[in-house]
Amino acid sequence: MSKARYDFEILIVGAGPAGIAAACAAAEIGKRVGVVDVVQAPGGQIWLGPDACEHDRKSAKWLGRLERCGAKLFCGATVVAQLREDVLLVETDEGSLELSWQKLVLATGARELFLPFPGWTLPNVCGVGGLQALVKSGLPVSGKKIVVAGSGPLLFAVADALKKRGAEVRCIAEQAPLSRVMRFGSSLLSHPSKLWQSLHTSTRLVGVPYRTGCWPVRAEGLKRVEIATLTNGQKYWTEPCDYLACGFGLVPNVELPILFGCALRGGVVQVNEQQETSVPRVFCAGEPTGVGGVDCALVEGEIAGLTASGKSTETAVLFGQRRRWHAFRRALNEAFRLRDELKTIAAADTLVCRCEDVSFGRLREFSSWREAKLQTRCGMGPCQGRICGGATHILFGWDMESVRPPVLPSCIETLATAGELTEAKSVK
Ligand SMILES: Cc1cc2nc3c(=O)[nH]c(=O)nc-3n(C[C@H](O)[C@H](O)[C@H](O)COP(=O)(O)OP(=O)(O)OC[C@H]3O[C@@H](n4cnc5c(N)ncnc54)[C@H](O)[C@@H]3O)c2cc1C
Repeated sequence: MSKARYDFEILIVGAGPAGIAAACAAAEIGKRVGVVDVVQAPGGQIWLGPDACEHDRKSAKWLGRLERCGAKLFCGATVVAQLREDVLLVETDEGSLELSWQKLVLATGARELFLPFPGWTLPNVCGVGGLQALVKSGLPVSGKKIVVAGSGPLLFAVADALKKRGAEVRCIAEQAPLSRVMRFGSSLLSHPSKLWQSLHTSTRLVGVPYRTGCWPVRAEGLKRVEIATLTNGQKYWTEPCDYLACGFGLVPNVELPILFGCALRGGVVQVNEQQETSVPRVFCAGEPTGVGGVDCALVEGEIAGLTASGKSTETAVLFGQRRRWHAFRRALNEAFRLRDELKTIAAADTLVCRCEDVSFGRLREFSSWREAKLQTRCGMGPCQGRICGGATHILFGWDMESVRPPVLPSCIETLATAGELTEAKSVK
């Protein structure tokens, strides 16, 4: 495998909305900017796939700006470790890269939160965003019966996308009670673009039952899911389905910030008003600082990019916008906070860590993530706790105490030969 090294003034991890905004802000000033993303094309989770621009003027605007701004893009490139204080180790299909930086912007986004219940490991029980990604990359769902369950506005967006592609969406089961969903709806009055978007989506979803205060408790089937059992806490009923798409919100990807020693509070990275973390020269923007949606990510990314480029005086005009999206973020998190009943939907033999086959009953014997890990290997499989870590946080209140490289799965060769390069490639 080949190896190469590049030096950047500003290096950005993540080419989602936050990373794109940071890259444009910095590169348009003339800085030497690099952007790295695991995925094969920029856009992050929301603008994933070839049809993103066709449907959304915002994504077309930002992706076009990124293409023109002069930042060097490394797609299909995974940041796996910190090699030295200001050098990242990156794995690609062609070989490894060493990327050095003067300022670093971490814009690593979020992933879905899965909660275990009997049958959740059956084929065709998948994440809401996961199913959306599969459909965007060509999975046919026309005529398929699909139950969409969990929490948050993503359920709505995905049900809409599935219906558009001909799926029969049996129902949307939202765990939050109607009162909180209504309050969230009224808060959209101060965000007309979001209000318009949700009204538009609701019109397209006419005929699909939207059940609030309702959640999945069981999935059953022989070779794949065939029936989902739902409850509203009083009665139970079943829905026949070919897919059960479940997502209980998002978990910020904070492994890389933790590796750098950035301070966290309440599971999110702490930043000052310029988006700088507790570690000098390291910035953070978008979902790792709190799950707040695409507009919040964009404005935080822009502030981080400008400040990292030495233009902090130009960021003040963006503070008002960010304040408004932070209010939206608070309303979102309050409305879709998870109910306590979800802590009891796993049975004793339900797997929580599916990489290492560790059940809910076994984990109940321990009092911390560390203890459970040492005794059961929970969180020590290929996903390194990225799935069960979020679940055990909700089920038992456990937090990951530390993160070890590699932060994402990587080849032994990448790690073994790291640091052998001395000569840097020039970017411009
Ligand atoms: C599965 C999923 C589906 C979603 N679908 C929608 C939707 O349909 N509509 C909607 O409004 N919102 C959706 N969202 C929410 C949306 O992603 C956010 O609101 C917003 O776009 C966040 O932007 P971001 O830049 O902070 O993060 P993201 O867009 O998530 O971008 C982060 C990027 O960082 C990259 N990354 C992370 N770690 C590394 C690493 N170690 N090395 C290299 N790259 C790395 C990721 O590959 C990703 O592309 C979805 C979220 C998820 C998780």
